[in-house]
Amino acid sequence: MRKKKILFLLSDTGGGHRASAMAISEAIETLYPGRYEILIEDVWKRHMPSPISRFPDAYGWITGPGMPIWAVLWKLTYYRKIQRLMFASFAPLVKNSVAAFMRKEQPDLVVSVHPLMNHLGLQWCESAGLNVPFITVVTDMVTLHSSWICPEVDRCLVPTEKARMLALELGMPKERLAVHGQPVGLKFNAIGSDKKKHRQQLGINPDTPTILIVGGGEGTGQIYRIARRIAKTIPYGQMLVVTGRNQRLRARMDAVAWSIPTQVYGFVDNMPELMGAADLLVTKAGPGTISEAFITGLPLILSGYIRGQEAGNVAYVKEHRAGAYAATTRGLTTLARDWLDASNPILQELARNASLLARPNASLDIATDICKLV
Ligand code: UDP
Repeated sequence: MRKKKILFLLSDTGGGHRASAMAISEAIETLYPGRYEILIEDVWKRHMPSPISRFPDAYGWITGPGMPIWAVLWKLTYYRKIQRLMFASFAPLVKNSVAAFMRKEQPDLVVSVHPLMNHLGLQWCESAGLNVPFITVVTDMVTLHSSWICPEVDRCLVPTEKARMLALELGMPKERLAVHGQPVGLKFNAIGSDKKKHRQQLGINPDTPTILIVGGGEGTGQIYRIARRIAKTIPYGQMLVVTGRNQRLRARMDAVAWSIPTQVYGFVDNMPELMGAADLLVTKAGPGTISEAFITGLPLILSGYIRGQEAGNVAYVKEHRAGAYAATTRGLTTLARDWLDASNPILQELARNASLLARPNASLDIATDICKLV
């Protein structure tokens, strides 16, 4: 019997979209082993003509040093009229190629995990002559961009109640909207609270306070500056630093003779273990990373956020007292030092609050919802 085919549409901007698609795929395979064939297609990279196909490579820059430009683009394209113009200018560039791909693959269901793949995704299905269910899984936690919401899709699954309210405001019909949480890999659920064990497995000191520093898939934020300052301010600690796809940062970090034990990684595939080993996470306000921290009960200090889509995440973390936002590197390291003080009970309190926000079954619930429509 032919396996049913599920096609995920995304663009690799940051690490969160692919991580979400993979988490949902993993959950589908766990719930229905061998029943579905999963395809994950980076539409922008594989179907746009060059050099436009390389635009996503600039995402790290535009959401890092180029943030003011990003903030303007985000706001402008929030307006439906401008958004329609944007889609109309992209559409002809990819339409034939994506439609041909879809005709060849004949998916039984299409899932978009990217804001640019919803309105266009439906058009591609139509061009390919496909009449199959189309689902949007929103991976922005609170302040989602309006382009996520395309009221014509069959289902729209969002991570939080706040995102649901905004989706309603943006015109998504109530009966096709559901809150399941942020899709996160199932491995995070199994990580447990034995930090010493994870530290031993990573080959670091099991008894030393451990700070994990992350900047999303692109390794953005002031990671270098923060790590330098932590090394000075918390001389009794150790650091795990994930530089993601940012090779320049990796080289810069590798060149330092660190005064405290420091492991520098590139793009890792063992984030659950790294979180399991840490006492504290310092990160930009990426929804994927934050949700993973909630599941592992890891308190966090947000060192920055991408203007627009991550602004609401900062308020969300603060409101629920799962962590804090530090506007300056000095403020961040002072806070980290206070929290790591053995006599301060706050880390445990924050860890409990983080756990309360966890939706460990999000990927499984999303997978169930999706597969009902195939
Ligand atoms: N991630 C990873 N390896 C890395 C860096 C990041 O697996 O080296 C994952 C991280 O665990 C999370 C995602 O990439 O699932 C980042 O998503 P987030 O929403 O936090 O930020 P984005 O990169 O999308 O801006």
